[in-house]
Amino acid sequence: MDEIPIAQRDLPDASPSVPWGRILVGIFLGVGAIAAAVGLWLAQLTPEPVTETEPEPEPEAAPIENVLGHLPYEEAGESDLVNITADGSIRLRTAAAARYQEMSEAARREGVLLAALSGYRTKAQQDYLFFQIKEQRNQRPSERAEVSAPPGFSEHHTGYAIDIGDANVPATHLSPQFENTPAFAWLETNAARYGFELSFPRDNPQGIAYEPWHWRFVGDMDSLETFYRAQNLPPINP
Ligand SMILES: [Zn+2]
Repeated sequence: MDEIPIAQRDLPDASPSVPWGRILVGIFLGVGAIAAAVGLWLAQLTPEPVTETEPEPEPEAAPIENVLGHLPYEEAGESDLVNITADGSIRLRTAAAARYQEMSEAARREGVLLAALSGYRTKAQQDYLFFQIKEQRNQRPSERAEVSAPPGFSEHHTGYAIDIGDANVPATHLSPQFENTPAFAWLETNAARYGFELSFPRDNPQGIAYEPWHWRFVGDMDSLETFYRAQNLPPINP
């Protein structure tokens, strides 16, 4: 009869013999450790999606509108270029070439000799003019850009731009002094009649040095759009 109370006493003793508390604590610790490890692992992974989303806002990587004040231009197609000098060294786009010849003839009839100094240029030619000359003259890019466009950013690529001199005053070729020649005076009065305008007058909005010798053709829709669309300017009023 004594066994029953003993057994009854043993029963409550038997349950603590299985250490549920420790097991639960162990489980909690185990789960906690796994959770912590997973947390660390996720924390290491999360930077990746963050960096992937970073490039998404692209205000800084916006399309290049200009380089040191110069606007981007495409090269004219070879088939649309014609010689404007006897030796074939200077070419313009067909429409611009025809009007330049007309303009040159008209000037000649009035005793003014226009000299074509430079017309169409490839990006490779401009690369030389910008980088090689820059180094030869020990110029910084910003200094060089005031007087020459970086490759890909010259109006000469279009075949619509031409550097004009006074054949009677070669010392003023490609110089601001050109503005004191009869040729420049004649151009100021008459160039618009032939569809040409000065690209970089004094204090031009692009911040390019004054170039009285550099004229561009804007006498047809393609040339007009080429230059005025590049500058994001509204079309000329009719
Ligand atoms: Zn020029």
